Amino acid sequence: MERELLRSEKLKVVGEMSAGFAHEIRNPLTTIKGFIQLFNEQDREDNLKYYPIVIEEIDRINKIMNELLNIANPNPSNEKTNVDVEDILQDIVLLQESQMKKNHIELETFLHGNLPELHMNRDKMKQVLINLIQNGIEAMPDGGRMNIRTYLEGEEADKVVMISIEDTGAGMDRETVEKLGTPFYTTKETGTGLGLTVSYSVVEDMNGSINVSSEKGKGTTFTICLPVQADGEACEVE
Ligand code: ADP
Ligand code: MG
Repeated sequence: MERELLRSEKLKVVGEMSAGFAHEIRNPLTTIKGFIQLFNEQDREDNLKYYPIVIEEIDRINKIMNELLNIANPNPSNEKTNVDVEDILQDIVLLQESQMKKNHIELETFLHGNLPELHMNRDKMKQVLINLIQNGIEAMPDGGRMNIRTYLEGEEADKVVMISIEDTGAGMDRETVEKLGTPFYTTKETGTGLGLTVSYSVVEDMNGSINVSSEKGKGTTFTICLPVQADGEACEVE
């Protein structure tokens, strides 16, 4: 019963996305067609300078497709194991450290160090954390600070693992915050606007929640709440 509900909710999200999806794919396709037609014309040599744009547009379609697959086609190996989220965080930090350094971002992690393991799909959790950390990096093009924290809250059956990702970047006004998670909502030139859609859907499937607090010009904090007992309702927002 419960599973069925989640499945139909997922289908609904995919349904709602179809219109936006058609639009997002048609735009780059139109661009690609236009430039390819140019390649066939007289000053062919000259027109070849548009070649990188064609590649860029194809990459964009590819990026959208990949993120859509994350939602529409539940990972064929949706295997759940006992996962240490701090372990995942350390993996990601290792991967992103050089990009942060390059962008003059100072990273500090405050890990609890002894969190209970959570029963979940590791790959999906990793994708969520990468999405939020990547957004933080992209919000600080001129450098800044990122703090990543993990901690435990609640008692016994209501115990929850909390992960917060704080940046001192661009921040968002209220209207933007309200649009977060809407498929294809992006303010970035090369964004897909699917990272948060995927992240919200994954975390909600784990009976968790994602909270945002943000101030324009100051920065943003995303806080993920995950119940230690997967069937609990401990993360429900009031
Ligand atoms: P994308 O990153 O492709 O734009 P997302 O779903 O990840 O798509 O994010 C949607 C939008 O939410 C972003 O374009 C940005 O405007 C806003 N956003 C997300 N995270 C942050 C953040 N940490 N700081 C400021 N804005 C953010
Ligand atoms: Mg993103």
